Amino acid sequence: MKYDVCVIGLGAMGTAATLELAARGASVIGLDQFGLGHDLGSSHGETRIIRSVYMEGNIYDPLLKAAYDGWHRFEKASGRKFLHLTGGLDISLVADGAFEAALEAATAGGHDHEILDGQALEARFPLFDLKGKARAVYAPGSGLLDSDAATMAMRTAAKRLGADLRGDFPVAGWTRSGSNFEIDTATGTIQAKKLIIAAGAWTGNLLPALKQVLIPERQVVGWYNVPDTGPQTIPIFQIETEARERFYGFPPHKGKGLKLGLFHHRYQRGRDYIDPKGIDGEDEHRLSEPARHYLRGINPKPQRLMECRFTLAPDDRFLIGPWPDDPDITLLSPCSGHGYKFVPAIGEIAADLAMETEPGIDIGPFSVERVL
Ligand SMILES: Cc1cc2nc3c(=O)[nH]c(=O)nc-3n(C[C@H](O)[C@H](O)[C@H](O)COP(=O)(O)OP(=O)(O)OC[C@H]3O[C@@H](n4cnc5c(N)ncnc54)[C@H](O)[C@@H]3O)c2cc1C
Repeated sequence: MKYDVCVIGLGAMGTAATLELAARGASVIGLDQFGLGHDLGSSHGETRIIRSVYMEGNIYDPLLKAAYDGWHRFEKASGRKFLHLTGGLDISLVADGAFEAALEAATAGGHDHEILDGQALEARFPLFDLKGKARAVYAPGSGLLDSDAATMAMRTAAKRLGADLRGDFPVAGWTRSGSNFEIDTATGTIQAKKLIIAAGAWTGNLLPALKQVLIPERQVVGWYNVPDTGPQTIPIFQIETEARERFYGFPPHKGKGLKLGLFHHRYQRGRDYIDPKGIDGEDEHRLSEPARHYLRGINPKPQRLMECRFTLAPDDRFLIGPWPDDPDITLLSPCSGHGYKFVPAIGEIAADLAMETEPGIDIGPFSVERVL
């Protein structure tokens, strides 16, 4: 059978693309090398952060607006709640860092925010033990997403709309054949007019020019018991330490403890880190040290630790857009460790590109050309 579009990779990005394409009436097949919803890529886990003030820069603002709109639309369509606004803090203990970047993004983008510092910050949010030395930007529009539940609901909705989604279906390669693509799988060849490659850390296997460009990086996150400080007193947060490391956290949610992660964790980077390595004592230490130091009353022994991976572009931005050698191919990932919040917007862009519609969002800053 010949499809309008074949999506390779059904993590969060590929799944959103299949949903949007099916909703627009395209015949779409999506393939993943592992079982659907597996925990070997970047998208698994119960929660992801969404921030309405984006210290990474105002280039993300149009994407962010489309993402919030998209989450609201998807919640309405599915009759379920995935987005929980908790407010968000960008906290810094050093000058010329996350605080200034967040403040600049908030001011330039006209986003709702407050500045909190010193004792005022800790009086309002007593979990933080920063010795009165921190400054923070508080964004009331930030929060968290029930990511596993949302991705699963997107998959279900895509199937209901006719998308053909197949797990345990590795793609060995693809070739151009006239105006079609032939996609090689263990059980035969699939034909499609357009190709979307959303293969995360494995993208270089399908687009070899990216093999040395993309950087898989091992991450570990943990869940911790914290004292109950009262309602609305734990937003999502990131803290930039005196050593300029940034760790991030989520409030306890749905019976789980406070979730913590450290950007770049142990700097374990490269293709050796695509596959899981297993958790060890150093992983626990990397997270419990900042927890013990900066979070009042936390039990530094984690309830649980989980391994995951980022796929980083050299400039930590996204790679979204037509493949330069063949505009019938759309590259949809990687999203450098901060892409989940944008999933509905990225799904729309993917469908626009595959259906030859000009995307409503400027994707110039995320172009593939810049890294080749
Ligand atoms: C620990 C951690 C915390 C994060 N926190 C946040 C956060 O708070 N907020 C936020 O916005 N983002 C966050 N992110 C980033 C976000 O989760 C990712 O950007 C996003 O999930 C990437 O999705 P993806 O679909 O591109 O990749 P993946 O989920 O890795 O999907 C790629 C898929 O392609 C499949 N595949 C690859 N090759 C083939 C092949 N040849 N044939 C068939 N299938 C193939 C893989 O099996 C995989 O399922 C975090 C990521 C991690 C790891």
